[in-house]
Amino acid sequence: MQEIKSSDNQNGGILNIAGIGPGNDRHITPAALDAIREADLVIGYATYIKLVKHLLDGKQVVRTGMTEEIERARSAVSAAKEGRIVTLVSSGDAGVYGMAGLVFQVLQDMGWDRTQNPELRIFPGITALNACASLVGAPLGHDFCAISLSDLLTPWPAIVRKIEAAAMADFVISLYNPASGRRQKQIVEAQEIIKKYRGGNTPVALVKSAYRSRENIIISDLDHFLDYEIGMLTTVLIGSSQTFLFDGYMVTPRGYQNKYTMEGEVLEGQTPARSLVLDNNGIPNGGA
Ligand code: SAH
Repeated sequence: MQEIKSSDNQNGGILNIAGIGPGNDRHITPAALDAIREADLVIGYATYIKLVKHLLDGKQVVRTGMTEEIERARSAVSAAKEGRIVTLVSSGDAGVYGMAGLVFQVLQDMGWDRTQNPELRIFPGITALNACASLVGAPLGHDFCAISLSDLLTPWPAIVRKIEAAAMADFVISLYNPASGRRQKQIVEAQEIIKKYRGGNTPVALVKSAYRSRENIIISDLDHFLDYEIGMLTTVLIGSSQTFLFDGYMVTPRGYQNKYTMEGEVLEGQTPARSLVLDNNGIPNGGA
């Protein structure tokens, strides 16, 4: 096991990587807020900077566009190395399709290790799938996965394989970056693949701009969700074979019904805190 050494941090340089959640202050963690407050330099996409602009008085702010990530990561690292307190902000969680991984690649490229400046601190954030799920019920109550449909940095055939595998394995699927102005084909192909494994009435939620002023929520199904607008600010949540709708909520059950009645009685043949007992057909004994 590698021993983890703490930074000697001679010049006091700190690089904070902070996820700011879906887009309003009530969903930023207090720790990430502190990371923004303590910074003298804040770096992020223009859209994210706008979401926290009321916290930025008196700080140097670098806003960047969509295609400047590498440069942005480099400048964050080098400013922190020089001794500044730099906070790189990302929407949601910075490690989920965000900048955190790229920062590590930049650090690796410059031969950095944990004993050197800058000291690195990473602050988790509420990622889009949590935020969007909370707006539609409990769609992630059983195994789920996230797949980004963006083929800007990933070959499309590799993405197709993941959609196919996730659909086959009955994961609830959360699609990030489902479409953009120029990129519309991917979501259509994703629907075709998933329909090979799931019924047309499988619940699908489209959540746009969760917890932002333009928030919009649509509950549809696998056959019909493409009838609605899907863009860069949308996350698509596709139910598993178990997901159901209840009074406008999307719910994926954890499996209690396989072992208990809704009054909490254990079903015959089952034992609490023991593996589920199956019949000869692989169906839970006594269950729904
Ligand atoms: N780091 C971010 C994800 C960045 S990828 C996170 O953890 O949430 C960008 C994609 O995230 C968008 O295309 C969209 O699919 C999703 N997304 C980010 N914020 C969102 C929000 N507020 N509402 C809905 N989807 C969002």
